Amino acid sequence: MKIICIGRNYADHIKELDNVKPTEPIIFLKPDTAVLLKKQPFFIPEFSNDVHHEVELLVRINKIGKHIDQKFAHKYYDEIGLGIDFTARDLQTKLKQEGLPWEKAKSFDGSAVIGNFLKKEVFEDMNNIDFSLKKNGKAVQNGNSMLMMWKIDALIEYISKYFTLKIGDIIFTGTPAGVGSVKADDILTGFIGENEMFSIKVK
Ligand code: MG
Repeated sequence: MKIICIGRNYADHIKELDNVKPTEPIIFLKPDTAVLLKKQPFFIPEFSNDVHHEVELLVRINKIGKHIDQKFAHKYYDEIGLGIDFTARDLQTKLKQEGLPWEKAKSFDGSAVIGNFLKKEVFEDMNNIDFSLKKNGKAVQNGNSMLMMWKIDALIEYISKYFTLKIGDIIFTGTPAGVGSVKADDILTGFIGENEMFSIKVK
């Protein structure tokens, strides 16, 4: 399986990091070694002093496809989940300044939290899904899929121009505002609506 991540998909997050609004989705990948399942703790890597949480809606692909038209994209996924795209912000800033790829800052071991999934049928509208992240019980990030610059079906069309999507692949759809540093002993709990999707301890 592969993990395809979207950068800068929420206007409020672009603003908080002072980034330029993209004219096309920004894509990067995480390898399978980045996966952190929901019962495991997250260990802050020794190469960063500023690891940020980015809570994101996840889309699980259930059918192989390439060059998928937006209007058929809904046939290629049946579950929506929640995860964290952990980011070594200090390292990412340095790589961005040097014009280098982000992988070391974004795709290291444990950087992709994959929580629970809910069947698509649970949702009335894919473009109106509320989600949030609490740090030590306090809400730090709130988002809704309606605020995505590129919605789920548009992302599937765009990604599948470049990468064949296969069963089990997961799309991280981008983070809303409220990203911030984590430290040892933090507890990060993610929600879709009222449903708890993961709870991660930082070490
Ligand atoms: Mg992200």
